[in-house]
Amino acid sequence: MGTTMLPHDACLAELISFLRTSPTAFHAAASAAALLRESGFVQLDEQASWGRLPAGNYFVLRNESSLIGFTWNGGGAFRLIGAHTDSPSLRLKPNPLRKEQGCLLLGVEIYGGALLRPWFDRELSLAGRVAWQDKNGSLRSALLDVQRPVAVIPSLAIHLNREANKQQDINSQTELVPLAGLIGEAATDFQHLLREQLRSQQPDAEPAGLIDHELFFYDATPPALAGLHQEFIVSARLDNLVSCFAAVQALRLADAQDNCLIILNDHEEVGSVSAAGAKGPLLRDVLERLLPETEARQAALRKSFFISADNAHAVHPNYAAKHDPQHLPQLGKGPVIKFNANQRYATTAASAAKFRQLCTKADVPVQEFVSRSDMGCGSTIGPLTAAELGVETVDVGIPSLAMHSIRETAASVDCWHLCRVLRTFFQP
Ligand SMILES: [Zn+2]
Repeated sequence: MGTTMLPHDACLAELISFLRTSPTAFHAAASAAALLRESGFVQLDEQASWGRLPAGNYFVLRNESSLIGFTWNGGGAFRLIGAHTDSPSLRLKPNPLRKEQGCLLLGVEIYGGALLRPWFDRELSLAGRVAWQDKNGSLRSALLDVQRPVAVIPSLAIHLNREANKQQDINSQTELVPLAGLIGEAATDFQHLLREQLRSQQPDAEPAGLIDHELFFYDATPPALAGLHQEFIVSARLDNLVSCFAAVQALRLADAQDNCLIILNDHEEVGSVSAAGAKGPLLRDVLERLLPETEARQAALRKSFFISADNAHAVHPNYAAKHDPQHLPQLGKGPVIKFNANQRYATTAASAAKFRQLCTKADVPVQEFVSRSDMGCGSTIGPLTAAELGVETVDVGIPSLAMHSIRETAASVDCWHLCRVLRTFFQP
């Protein structure tokens, strides 16, 4: 606590390292927990009684994929920041192995609203969580990251499909199947790979112990800075790990009189209905344990303010007509306040004004987004949390391009802007 904010370049380097160590929601929660632990935050166990928590800095993990971190002063209002740990991806099926035409293939399900075309022709690695039996027969689970390319989804050559550059459907059952090896090569046995990986991380893993898995493919190419002057950051999962990172960094530096709390939810990309998702009870459960008396809790929540941070669509110079002409959030011009008349975003005039004031204080530019009236609108955890707790909420996010691609683009300076404005929120 009390350390000063990192300068721009150091902040970007830490963001890139956070992106690299967070290939899945599980790893994102673990990366966030590690940073909080480094700053002296103490992990609370949801299975234990917390009693009356002494003032201090704490965090909680649920499902190993959602995290709540907070500073606790014993009562009073909350300053809240929310973001999500998950991103669209390809998840391995329970029995994924297929053998076709001499190749070993791994069947996948699509997780969330992935942009599928960019998944072709990229080196894919595998990460997630496995459940296994230790030498005493007890069930345990562990995070696993293979950390090297283990598969690829080659596209069909243009010579075999002359229509390939026109709009084309992708059949996710038959066309989106990663190739993981050649039949007959001993080292390409999938279970073998998992067991070897597990054993290298968990020496007491029982070789014959059953392994269930929640494993996701991810782009093995690391994040990069791009542009003539490195204006861009290009990476998988910018949506929404940039917000997670900025929230964690803000909390590490928090010194507000109010309690400062960040909630990083899993399952936003699939509708948030889960034990760990924003439509589940996680935040309410933690708040009820901190403030068990309804009256005190309600009064605290009415005085609280929630910044829901999730990436926004920057105007794409090649597709500018996809935006409302009066609302064209540009890369590099600061965080975006998101508006929607139908409550797809929870922003109100009052909450937008508060966020604008915060940006002025942090010396950060700010922009607005609203969808074209003839197009649908996305949503995020803001309205869900507002509906669940009745807390005043603003939906914001950095402008980005290629959202839900395996490789998204944002302006590096916007990541810095977001870090600064969230820090200012927690350091009034
Ligand atoms: Zn998002």
